[in-house]
Amino acid sequence: MKKELLKLARLNGEPEIFYSIQGEGKSTGVPSVFIRTSLCNLHCIWCDTDYTWNWKGTRFKHVSDADPSYRKFSMDEWIAECEVGDIAAKAASYRCKNIILTGGEPMMQQERLSELMLLLKDLVPGVRFETETNGTIAPAANFDALIDQYNVSPKLSNSNNPKKLREKPDVLRFFAQSPKSVFKFVIADAADLAEVLEIANTYRISEEKVWLMPEGTSASALAHRRVWLVDICKEYGFRFSDRLHVQIWGSKKGV
Ligand code: SF4
Repeated sequence: MKKELLKLARLNGEPEIFYSIQGEGKSTGVPSVFIRTSLCNLHCIWCDTDYTWNWKGTRFKHVSDADPSYRKFSMDEWIAECEVGDIAAKAASYRCKNIILTGGEPMMQQERLSELMLLLKDLVPGVRFETETNGTIAPAANFDALIDQYNVSPKLSNSNNPKKLREKPDVLRFFAQSPKSVFKFVIADAADLAEVLEIANTYRISEEKVWLMPEGTSASALAHRRVWLVDICKEYGFRFSDRLHVQIWGSKKGV
């Protein structure tokens, strides 16, 4: 039987694998190889990787709909189906020991990603793996055994996803108790903070596992919210995270 391929995002015609630094959360500043999977089970209205899910023919809404030149994406053009071995070779070529699975929603392709991690363990001695996730899909045991850090980013009502899609109680309980999990939330205003407090309280997520980041896609927008958010972190004992990639590159992709 033909082996299923891993679906990566395609950017500038190539599978999206790049070497940069982690821009936010617990590992901020760590040089890392990013492997961006395609496909997402959510459809956040402000998503900045909408080329992983906002396919032609779907009815999903996006803030860019207001731009007359915005077009939904063709799966043929924006998904790169890749052999796991080819991805491992490319990622290993950077000789970097921190590899971040991102998306889209990487947990949708756990089985192939587990194969990828096993190959990379042989190719890059001492490698560690992080995965970004929206916290709606639980990891299988073999995936969980390979991952070193879950960067869990539950989506709030401002994402425009129905609550029953974006909040899966059993999955959030799993991540809340996993020693490998840290949570991160992008905060624009007091309403966002109230939702984070409710999630943290409901699922017993301890404050030292929570990173809050200011909302904004430009350095000036981040600056506007930074002082306010630092004060909130001091009040509740949450960690503060800036968004280095926005500071350095704005909304540029693949960096
Ligand atoms: S969960 Fe992440 S990738 Fe998926 S739509 Fe939301 S922001 Fe985009």
